[in-house]
Amino acid sequence: MYLKELDLGKEVKCDCKDCSGTGVYKGWREQRDLGVVCNKCNGRGYYILNLNEKVQLAKDEKTGIVYEVINDEICGTVKLFNGLKQRGDVKYVMYGTGFTFCPEYLFEHGANEINLISYKEFLNGDLPLPMTKYVCPRYIEAYYENKNYSNDCPTCMSTTECQYWGKTTCWDDFYGNAETIEEKREVLKRFKK
Ligand SMILES: [Zn+2]
Repeated sequence: MYLKELDLGKEVKCDCKDCSGTGVYKGWREQRDLGVVCNKCNGRGYYILNLNEKVQLAKDEKTGIVYEVINDEICGTVKLFNGLKQRGDVKYVMYGTGFTFCPEYLFEHGANEINLISYKEFLNGDLPLPMTKYVCPRYIEAYYENKNYSNDCPTCMSTTECQYWGKTTCWDDFYGNAETIEEKREVLKRFKK
């Protein structure tokens, strides 16, 4: 195996491993053609790998495989991000709720085209807005932003036990001054683990 060291600067975008660079996650909770915004990369499809004297990338010229090399030892493989990869099993994308859903059920129970955007819209850079009926802002923050809470929210994220559930104050805190759909999407786009 002949490895050639890659000189890609200090930061390199690599395909998110949870969603294989698609930005959309689909597990058993996501029924039929539903997908959720990947909570590892918040739909970006990539993560940033910081390169330095210790962490380097090297490519096998024969196979094209790129290896992550830490302290001169191969520690795994990465795929260099080259735009969102497409997947064929998703028509609608929403923010995760922790519940099992299919698009038909959601549309029959109050979802609209803002909560469940088409996969095409997602590929064009739009994000859905979380369905406030099924998910609490603390869940969104915990899964997509990894935030530590300083207020008195119990962060149980339970629809039945939380004393704040269904109150608008949590969502008001979450969106801050954002009022329009676009402004709310910008709040969500800032999320980064
Ligand atoms: Zn991802």
